[in-house]
Amino acid sequence: MNEWYADVIIDISHEKVDRPFQYRIPPKLLPAVEVGVCVTVPFGNGNKPRKGYVTRLSQKADYDVSKLKDIWKVEQGEVSVEDRMIRLAVWLRRTYGGTMIQALKTVLPAKQTVKALEKRTILLRWSREETQELLAAATRKKQVAKVRLLTELLEYGQLPHSLVTTKLNVSSATIKSLENQGVITLEIENTYRQPIHLDAQNGEKRLLSPAQSHIVEQIIGQYDQGIKTTSVIHGITGSGKTEVYMELIAQIIARGKQAIVLIPEIALTYQTVVRFYKRFGNRVSVMNSTLSPGEKYDQCQRAKEGDIDVIIGPRSALFTPFPNIGLIVIDEEHEATYKSESSPKYHARETAMEIARMHGASVVLGSATPSLEAYYQASLGNFNLYKLTERPTGGILPKVYVEDLRQELRRGNRSIFSLHLQELMEERLASGQQMMLFLNRRGYAGFISCRECGEVVKCPHCDVSLSEHKGGRLVCHYCGYETAPVKLCPKCGSKYVSGFRAGTQQIEDKIKEMYPQARVLRMDADTTKKKDSYEEILSAFANGEADILVGTQMIVKGHDFPNVTLVGILAADMSLSVGDYRAGERTFQLLTQAAGRAGRGQKPGEVVIQTYQPEHYSVVHAASQDYEAFYEEEIVYRELSGYPPAGHMMAVQIMAQYEESGKMLAEDLKSMALKMGKKVQIIGPAPAFVGKIKDVYRFVFYVKSKNYDTLVEIKDTLDMEIQKLQLRKESVQFDFDPMNAF
Ligand code: ADP
Ligand code: ZN
Ligand code: ZN
Repeated sequence: MNEWYADVIIDISHEKVDRPFQYRIPPKLLPAVEVGVCVTVPFGNGNKPRKGYVTRLSQKADYDVSKLKDIWKVEQGEVSVEDRMIRLAVWLRRTYGGTMIQALKTVLPAKQTVKALEKRTILLRWSREETQELLAAATRKKQVAKVRLLTELLEYGQLPHSLVTTKLNVSSATIKSLENQGVITLEIENTYRQPIHLDAQNGEKRLLSPAQSHIVEQIIGQYDQGIKTTSVIHGITGSGKTEVYMELIAQIIARGKQAIVLIPEIALTYQTVVRFYKRFGNRVSVMNSTLSPGEKYDQCQRAKEGDIDVIIGPRSALFTPFPNIGLIVIDEEHEATYKSESSPKYHARETAMEIARMHGASVVLGSATPSLEAYYQASLGNFNLYKLTERPTGGILPKVYVEDLRQELRRGNRSIFSLHLQELMEERLASGQQMMLFLNRRGYAGFISCRECGEVVKCPHCDVSLSEHKGGRLVCHYCGYETAPVKLCPKCGSKYVSGFRAGTQQIEDKIKEMYPQARVLRMDADTTKKKDSYEEILSAFANGEADILVGTQMIVKGHDFPNVTLVGILAADMSLSVGDYRAGERTFQLLTQAAGRAGRGQKPGEVVIQTYQPEHYSVVHAASQDYEAFYEEEIVYRELSGYPPAGHMMAVQIMAQYEESGKMLAEDLKSMALKMGKKVQIIGPAPAFVGKIKDVYRFVFYVKSKNYDTLVEIKDTLDMEIQKLQLRKESVQFDFDPMNAF
């Protein structure tokens, strides 16, 4: 007998998505039941009919079969928004791991218990004469609150309830008695919380350049022919990508479809949003982490009910429940924030493509420095590639100088500023132009390099840099290779082997010491703890309240500063030396972006890149602003070592209360994976990049394969084993094609 069972999630509208319940599928319903369909099932003691969604099918019952109830009915009709969300959750779980509940919580709007916002208005019902008589009586009786209310109502006819109870200080008892008398009525209207209040100026648009129009025509032309594409728009900042997105969106809306625009949270400034509002008015809304749960919920409702056509937000905006998506735009597509850091660890790019597949939509990826993934797909012909090479507003690319810090040391300059940078800084201070000094803090966690020759100590097996641990031991975070502390440079024998230890605070102090007259602003994790402090610092700088802005990667994004004519990158190597395979890519992106900050106005800009490795291809190609040249070298490295996008890599991350048990579990899981006999390479296990966080030990091993599905199979098998183990003091997570070292 071939029985089938289905996991059914009941009532997904609850704030907390419950665990699924298992039901038996009656044979006559079998053909109609699949993952994602809506079914009616008997629920609870009274067997009340309830709607639910199928999240899994299996031929094995998890409970006593005699106790399982039958599915009653499969709902027919069009695929609803909910069906798609469930299917998407199933896809997320399969592709990235994690539990079904985690996947459902990712795609479904959380808090549904929030009450709809009510707008209450007090309306005057009596005639003027009658009201004036009542007012006179109230005045005689010295009923001051009533007098205030009636006077205002005589003037305006109606008043917002909130104004009456606050500003006019009228008690609800007074309002109630007037209501009972029939003098006034209370009108209640449901409204949505609107995160942005702006007067829409519908229709503002620019005439597109031929290059911009070409992109729009191609993408829309193919869309209309039913060819749904993924396109990369490679264009420097200010080359008019956003203008292209807006025109595409307008075309999509004209076809009765909706659009999602993803922007990295940090770049999601008021200015960006205003541009979209000016073009699309109230048909656009935003979603971001500063919205209250109620506001978020309302944006979802508005999307579902057709009250908006466009949503702008960070990666979670992908799950806006639009009925009919036509376009998904991902701006600054290369940003690491597009990868979720909690399970399911999904990537917005791939998820957008899956959503687009479900809706028959197109995807547009924009960047000045496309991710290797996107460019690789374009080179294979899977994505279309478009370029925007000019700035419509003019402006020339800055002049870039690479300063070799090894030379500085030889010249006896031990300061953090090269002599050339000092010279240019003094020039700016004298002429009242602004500058930005950028310290790449990533990788501060202790790699070792030689200050004389630039050599970085690397793992002989993995070709990534080793990290310094307590006591000076050097460890590879991919394979666990260890070596004793290095006292002398392995290449040149110099004793100047160390990390670059200066932080932004020290840099600020140093500037104040060298140039007491300079006004300095600092932006890093310490100075931006408060809400809005990020915006405050940037606008103070934009208003010319400082000569120098010192900061970490935070300062290289968003905002235009026309008066900035000098950008100093103090230690370009830092991110090169993080122990993971994306270090070169990240460095190239950061340097290119930082350099792009100079000369955005009419005055030409200059950029100084200080480095111990001036010959490294990431530095060389960033200096000449040559993305293709960088790509060509980087992809060779990825292909040779089988790193993404040339291959795929799954990190199996183990968290454990005890070090020994964590290590053992990691070893056990590794041997299970090996036993499957798939064509994979397994490296590790090793202690994680940060080996212990809040007393939890962390281990990781990596499984590499050409084939993504092979990794999914291994994940599923390990997952099943993990379930059987019923772990209490350990937990396991999967991270596919990881962005950062774990
Ligand atoms: P990106 O998104 O690539 O950074 P934007 O779309 O923001 O570029 O464009 C940069 C600036 O150039 C903006 O001020 C924008 O209004 C202007 N711009 C873009 N396209 C045009 C155009 N076709 N004509 C005139 N100005 C344009
Ligand atoms: Zn050396
Ligand atoms: Zn290694």
